[in-house]
Amino acid sequence: MTKHIFVTGGVVSSLGKGLTSASIGMLLERRGLRVRMQKLDPYINVDPGTMSPYQHGEVYVLDDGSETDLDLGHYERFTNSPLTRDSNYTTGQIYQSVIEKERRGEFLGKTVQVIPHITDEIKSVIRKLATDSVDVVITEIGGTVGDIESLPFLEAIRQMPQEVGHENCLFIHLTLVPYLKAAAELKTKPTQHSVGQLRQIGIQPDILICRTERSISMDDRQKIALFCNVPLQAVIEEKDKDFSIYEVPLSLVNNGLDDLIVKRLQLRADTLLLNDWHDLLHRLRNPQHEISIAVVGKYAEHRDAYKSIYESLDHAGIHHHAQIRIGRIHSEAVEREGPERMLAGYDGLLVPGGFGERGIEGKVEAIRFARERGIPFFGICLGMQCAVIEFARHVVGLENAHSTEFSKDTQHPVICLLDDQKMITYKGGTMRLGAQPANLQSGTLAADCYQADVISERHRHRFEFNNAYRQQFEAHGMRFAGTSPDHSLVEIVEIENHPWFLAVQFHPEFKSQPTSAHPLFAGFVRAAIDRRSVRGPSLVADGPH
Ligand code: GLN
Repeated sequence: MTKHIFVTGGVVSSLGKGLTSASIGMLLERRGLRVRMQKLDPYINVDPGTMSPYQHGEVYVLDDGSETDLDLGHYERFTNSPLTRDSNYTTGQIYQSVIEKERRGEFLGKTVQVIPHITDEIKSVIRKLATDSVDVVITEIGGTVGDIESLPFLEAIRQMPQEVGHENCLFIHLTLVPYLKAAAELKTKPTQHSVGQLRQIGIQPDILICRTERSISMDDRQKIALFCNVPLQAVIEEKDKDFSIYEVPLSLVNNGLDDLIVKRLQLRADTLLLNDWHDLLHRLRNPQHEISIAVVGKYAEHRDAYKSIYESLDHAGIHHHAQIRIGRIHSEAVEREGPERMLAGYDGLLVPGGFGERGIEGKVEAIRFARERGIPFFGICLGMQCAVIEFARHVVGLENAHSTEFSKDTQHPVICLLDDQKMITYKGGTMRLGAQPANLQSGTLAADCYQADVISERHRHRFEFNNAYRQQFEAHGMRFAGTSPDHSLVEIVEIENHPWFLAVQFHPEFKSQPTSAHPLFAGFVRAAIDRRSVRGPSLVADGPH
């Protein structure tokens, strides 16, 4: 019988529920259990694909082309649980499906209501993952307990033990135990209130994971246990980690979480294997190199907008025993201040994906700076498109070359709409999405990094390199190192006579793990380390921004 773990959050948002759920998944997997992970999001958008990164952070893309919540990135970085469309549902999707059933007449004349129809639909998407080959399904409920919109999800998981047996369900609630400076004390009351709210809707949590800045005293643990009605050992402390998020699973193990879960769910589990994880933390703590990478984007101030990019850089750092200082550079600041002032001294420059015209010229200027100064450059999606625009304008000599995304009537549309996109008007879920194969040309940087001829990477774009310009670009020293198998789409560009200049139309950052860095990120960071070792200590004046 598949067991279910439900993870809820209380007190405040941004407690790291995704990271904690991913850590739980990882610990169970490393005890030999087959785990599936899932996030249920209470917002009405069908998926986060149409939301601004300011609202939602990064949109995380899966192999099957689904555009999902960024917590799924944590799941993939921490576990090997296969993720699909069934791993992320929103209120919008649940209602869409119920309304379609209603239109097909499937409710046989009944009034369609939140309870039971919406809650039944929610239970069915949870149970969908509980197949014979799965030991544990971990379902994270987005939002904070007490939000109006999460109520149907909480009601659905309240009902789950009725259906699958109380012994097969475990409720884990993540809360905050804040430290009040004025009183010089940790406060347990917000946790008591949030558990009180959960109990009001009929859920008694089995385990409380308490996020805190300081260690929770035995007295406070006893208080939480007594008032929240959980055994003392089920009050798990999760202290803030200022060093690395990859410490979280170890701290949960030290607080006995994996044993507790295994015991409460009566799982047949092996002993925990964490050697590689200890090794990665050891590498993080003992770097042999230090480099600085500038990530030039429109959402520099928003930590979650380029989440997987920052993580992938860290993975490559772990791989090469290097500490990476990331400078989050606003592309509009490059426009205002000039690339010299914003970028001189960095050992590598990365331009990530994006949409819309704001900040484009700053990205183009930054790429020109990297190309002309021989600074390792890595372009991703819009980053590749900007590299093509830059090359067109300053090397090929096509003045004002642009992408038709930003300049419909440009004289030189070096980036244009994909053919399949021309008739599309619907915005949601209609880009070129998900895993697509590409062939690599031998003797290129890309082939050297991947050590392969054929690769598969995830995509999310509407625009592409305009094939009418291929010959002209090649004649000026651009290599098309990767193309779709029928050669119709450019997937990777490189330039000759540069230490490391590579840009891709896809999103390699969605396939990097802390214990196995993505080959392109590893290659890029290697090039930045080499540049640093030639140039000597950091040249970034005040340290990266
Ligand atoms: N806006 C560009 C396109 O649609 C790039 C997309 C991206 O960077 N993900 O093709």
